[in-house]
Amino acid sequence: MLEICQKTQLLLSRQYQNQTLAHAIVIQGRSTLANRALADWLIELLICQKPVTKLSKIDEQALVLQACGHCKTCLLNKADNFPDHLNLQSENKTIGVDDIRRGNSFLEKTAHIGQVKTVLIPASDTMTVAASNALLKTLEEPNPNNYIILLTQELDSLLPTIVSRCAVLTIKSEVGQALLNSLQLSMDSKNLYFDNGLNDNAFINSSQLAELTSEDTFHAYQTFTQCYLGYLNNTVEEKQLLDQLNDSEHAIRWLENLTCNLIRKFYLSDIVQQTNFSKQFGIEVSVLKQLYQAIINSNKLIKSYAQVNRQLICQQLLVTINNIIRSST
Ligand SMILES: [Zn+2]
Repeated sequence: MLEICQKTQLLLSRQYQNQTLAHAIVIQGRSTLANRALADWLIELLICQKPVTKLSKIDEQALVLQACGHCKTCLLNKADNFPDHLNLQSENKTIGVDDIRRGNSFLEKTAHIGQVKTVLIPASDTMTVAASNALLKTLEEPNPNNYIILLTQELDSLLPTIVSRCAVLTIKSEVGQALLNSLQLSMDSKNLYFDNGLNDNAFINSSQLAELTSEDTFHAYQTFTQCYLGYLNNTVEEKQLLDQLNDSEHAIRWLENLTCNLIRKFYLSDIVQQTNFSKQFGIEVSVLKQLYQAIINSNKLIKSYAQVNRQLICQQLLVTINNIIRSST
């Protein structure tokens, strides 16, 4: 098993043994290879009739489970001849309602050989909204013998209603984790983004940004954060923010994340800090809420269509942001 999956593999092994494994699981991580490796391991385990244990590489006291590789169901699975597992893929660019219906009717039938039925949706982030809603119905009425596993590089590309029905596992490299910790530290020590410090745990949400696992993306995120805060504070030009928005594929999500965190920061503050909030950030929390709504709408627009002019949406969003800020002063 890949190194970055081992922690999660151990967790899932425990859940399997304690029979607490969720019936709908989202595996989220930047590496599609790692996501898939973990999913394949889990599915093989669920299919196997006599799983075996081995010592964990990261915890010598712990055991990880794996498929035995030679029971009847393992052999059928190896030969790609196992009828109770479905790899849900689409012939089109997106996974549509018909694809999901195919999965649903597969799950409705009882298992042919094994005890359980499994469905893997590798490109779950390409599900259309209608497909997501069709899947939601199945997730809302879980069958104890069924397991559905969704893979995605970004949790945000799935509908929140889907995510709320699933157990979410995030695979993150050690480097990524270390970067996030240092980000958290620099936020905590308040010397990076804030002149006068509030003792806060805003920005804690950044740990959900799975893409922050490379130095380059991490620095892009830092630059973006400073640019956005500067823009709100009137020290950064609109043009600069637009360049930033166009530069990174993640930028609108970052905008959403940062705005949400600023709002949270306000509500986590005491009354004195709340009074100083608009002075510190150059913006009222009520305006932030309007901005947040506008950003979410743009983000939805980008997610809803396969063919979308991203640059145009960024431009329009910035016009909207400008209008909101201007009409408030
Ligand atoms: Zn087996």
